Amino acid sequence: MDKIKIAIQKSGRLYDDSVKLLKDCGIDLKNGVNKLKAECDNFPMEIYFLRDDDIPQYVEDAVADIGIVGENVFYEKKKKAEIVEQLGFGKCRLSVAVGRSEQYDGVDFLHGKKIATTYPVLVQQFLDKNSIKAEIHEISGSVEIAPGIGLADAIVDLVSSGSTLFMNGLKEVETVLKSQAVLIRNEQLGARQQQLLEKFLFRIRAVKKARN
Ligand code: ATP
Ligand code: ZN
Repeated sequence: MDKIKIAIQKSGRLYDDSVKLLKDCGIDLKNGVNKLKAECDNFPMEIYFLRDDDIPQYVEDAVADIGIVGENVFYEKKKKAEIVEQLGFGKCRLSVAVGRSEQYDGVDFLHGKKIATTYPVLVQQFLDKNSIKAEIHEISGSVEIAPGIGLADAIVDLVSSGSTLFMNGLKEVETVLKSQAVLIRNEQLGARQQQLLEKFLFRIRAVKKARN
């Protein structure tokens, strides 16, 4: 294989900026959004469109050589892959939120509480770091409604503006992780892929510089 394979989100919050980054790097994708795969004429790259959650595994398995994911997903999945570069988009934070009327006076509030999240690994690390014992309820979506329906006392979820929390009667009280999109790589790239990654990275850095 003389091309480098990159995995990006198929649709969602990282899609537009990921495609934009490739375009700004002078890489023209040939196919539309609905395909699993796109080729390009002017750079030896193949683009795979995947769910963001699956990208770290695909990069570990070398199905893709490199990928673009949020740091939140990267650290939650704990796959064997390396961060090469922070990309400056997809900025958000993984935060603890509680009901707006709760009297929150520090992390000790969480002792013995039920916490709903889609990020059990990162939440457990956060609790351990703060020596807190709490019950984690892993749910797959709509985490912000959990306190309102009595499923949890607190949540840990991604926040950017905070308006979703506000609309659900919650307030943000702690930051677990600050996150942005990153470029990740397989740990054992072949010489050709390594060379192409360096070429791509050189362009990414030029684009980032121009954006600042
Ligand atoms: P997929 O279908 O690929 O699994 P998803 O629903 O898990 O998509 P999105 O909501 O599209 O994911 O978010 C993708 C990534 O965008 C997040 O993991 C995070 O890194 C980043 N992001 C930036 N801002 C936000 C935000 N306000 N809420 C959620 N994610 C955000
Ligand atoms: Zn996802």
